[in-house]
Amino acid sequence: MQETLIKNVRPLAGSAVDILVQDERIAAVGPSLTSSAPDAQVIDGDGHLVLPGFADAHTHIDKCTVGLGWYSRRSGRSWAEMIKDGQDYRERPDFDHHVQSSRQARASIAAGTTHLRTFVDIDPSARLKGLEGVLKTREDLAGALTINIVAFAQSGLLVTPGVDKLLEEALQNGADSVGGMDPAYYDRDPVKHLDVIFGLAEKYDKDVDIHFHEVGTLGAFTCELIIERVKTLGWHDRTVISHPNFLGDIEPAYADRLIEELAENRISITSNGPGGSHPNPPVKRLHQAGVACGMGNDGVGDTWNPFNRPDVLNRAYLVAFRNRLSGDDELEIALDLATFGGARVMRAESYGLEVGCYADLVLLPGETHVQTIIERPTERLVLKRGRIVARDGECLV
Ligand SMILES: [Zn+2]
Repeated sequence: MQETLIKNVRPLAGSAVDILVQDERIAAVGPSLTSSAPDAQVIDGDGHLVLPGFADAHTHIDKCTVGLGWYSRRSGRSWAEMIKDGQDYRERPDFDHHVQSSRQARASIAAGTTHLRTFVDIDPSARLKGLEGVLKTREDLAGALTINIVAFAQSGLLVTPGVDKLLEEALQNGADSVGGMDPAYYDRDPVKHLDVIFGLAEKYDKDVDIHFHEVGTLGAFTCELIIERVKTLGWHDRTVISHPNFLGDIEPAYADRLIEELAENRISITSNGPGGSHPNPPVKRLHQAGVACGMGNDGVGDTWNPFNRPDVLNRAYLVAFRNRLSGDDELEIALDLATFGGARVMRAESYGLEVGCYADLVLLPGETHVQTIIERPTERLVLKRGRIVARDGECLV
């Protein structure tokens, strides 16, 4: 039996304890633990904090440009033009979906991410190339990073003929979830869009993640249609609305009613803490209402914008900053989104710091856990299922 004994760490800033890991899972947590295995790996935690591995619940590792030189983005592009820019970029002869997704995935591991949900573009230009590349990356990094794949209609579903069939093929070939996008704003027919997405989810027993850029009452209207759909199909705990920014852009009483319905119907959300003039989902209200909330780095080094980095703690900082979460109790909410909340969104198995959970852990310095959002120390030791996979910003797998 493979054992790892982690000495002198403070789970979520609690008292110093030891953690014994046996066969990938936490077997004991307490003072002065010992291992009886002669070949046990012993890690001196040096009084550091220990957090559960970070959960990047919304990213796009198939679009990463890192390692291919600086990508010069043009300003003032329309939505359709930005979609086309991304497609054109991925036609470059030196763009390989496997290599690029692997680069981002390894950078994520280096920063402490142990669970990641990636959207993968499925369209007539990429067809299933993105999926195939990401599947290879998932296989390469099995045991180091849990990757959940969403087959994603980035270029629209109804407005781009053939995408429905390609999504179906993707679900038959390894995608875990099906992803729609802006059913009303971009696809012009939200009912038909949701017919296809939830129809595929039901047919292949897959989860749903709808990618939103719809703001104001248009977003709220589509949200109501999704809630109806979840009630009808019973897709509770299996449906995510990614960046529901409209919740910060409608009458507060209306937002409160929708938030209650999201909680009642166990529909999850993710936020990327949008910058600029974008409205912002009120994550504190959502969290307090009991909605499963995660956060995601979105496209890291993609053709859309240059701002996103692979560090989930950095995203937690942005979400906290954007939501003015400055009290320790509020920073705790941001950290929850980066860990437990994101894991709940992805329905991660046996996640946490309790006995029986997988030993997916990050050790890092700090007096208290919420401080790590602000200071984002580079000194981090990352374990996946009890095995060291990254140290101080370097991925070791
Ligand atoms: Zn996204």
